[in-house]
Amino acid sequence: MTAPDVRVPFLSLKPGDDADALRGAVNRVIDRGWFILGPELEAFEAEFAAAAGAGHAIGVNTGTDAIALLLRGMGIGPGDEVITAPLSAAYTALAVMMAGARPVFADIDPERHTISPAAVEAAITSRTAAIMPVHLYGQAADMTAIAAIAARHGLAIVEDAAQAHLASCEGRPVGSFGAGAAFSFYPTKNLGALGDGGAITVHDAALADRLRRLRNGGQRTTYQHDEFGVNSRLDEMQAAILRERLQRLPAWTEQRRALAAHYRMRLEGAPVHVPREFDAGHVYHLFVVRTAQREAFRAHLASQGVQTLIHYPKALTQQPAIQSEAPATCPHAEQAASEVCSLPLYPSLSLADAELVASAVMSFRP
Ligand SMILES: *Cc1c(COP(=O)(O)O)cnc(C)c1O
Repeated sequence: MTAPDVRVPFLSLKPGDDADALRGAVNRVIDRGWFILGPELEAFEAEFAAAAGAGHAIGVNTGTDAIALLLRGMGIGPGDEVITAPLSAAYTALAVMMAGARPVFADIDPERHTISPAAVEAAITSRTAAIMPVHLYGQAADMTAIAAIAARHGLAIVEDAAQAHLASCEGRPVGSFGAGAAFSFYPTKNLGALGDGGAITVHDAALADRLRRLRNGGQRTTYQHDEFGVNSRLDEMQAAILRERLQRLPAWTEQRRALAAHYRMRLEGAPVHVPREFDAGHVYHLFVVRTAQREAFRAHLASQGVQTLIHYPKALTQQPAIQSEAPATCPHAEQAASEVCSLPLYPSLSLADAELVASAVMSFRP
């Protein structure tokens, strides 16, 4: 049997309604001839901080660097523990390790898929320096409960918001609950560059200044390296591209929400589990369902021309590179990793294609 044609791809990264604007942005940078730490980055940082409801934004190379630099900027490093979520991109934990700290995993809530506040509290030790929830799939963790725990124990909060641009929790923007947040502009993210990119948002001006030095070799002024730093700057080309896309992000986010609402309506009584929405501030980076018959489910969807992906096939507690540094077991995350399946959902997905996906799901016979 030959593979059926793909009718609904999981994602297409080719620019669509914004293509001409992106070409214009690239040309603007070429014509100016200024490529690092220039006016596009400065403008993007101001615009992104405003959109995120934060005081300051600092553009860096990747979301991974954003996490690692934020921790370092806060003085978190060797000897410190950072409590984080075991169901995430591996980079969440790798970034903690880059900062020299140790990731400690607290299991997820099995329905919300974000870190369980009770598990966070149980994981606190005398070495805990920060709690770093991940706003997975575009939905915020239970920040009200986590903020209460952090306050009770005098701990910092750092948010991994790589999948959650413009998301909120009980009406408050992500990134507003603690010292700062890390965002990724990897091309597949809700706000994606045409390459790698990331940003840190913080509220404290002194921390923002420190992070600007840290990302630029620790330079206070040109050729004056007063402290340790790295080379991690969001370049002018990507900043210009992101400025164009940031303007469109609110509309794109509404399109994601509308498609998710449509899926929820059409998947009523589906033969797979559709986790409920916990917060209307969800920005649907991914639309994830669960089934114990995942291989058969994916094969059925593929036979209908529908592509799916897995986020993530292993919990971080099951990744050798992380397990060796931070051994833990998180049964809920590990179970989820064996059952989750992401359906196509992106702003340019047509309603007709969403219908096709929904019909394919509904006709699955486990
Ligand atoms: C994408 C992602 C990262 C890493 O971001 P990069 O820009 O790829 O380095 C970290 N955490 C989460 C939750 C992510 O989705």
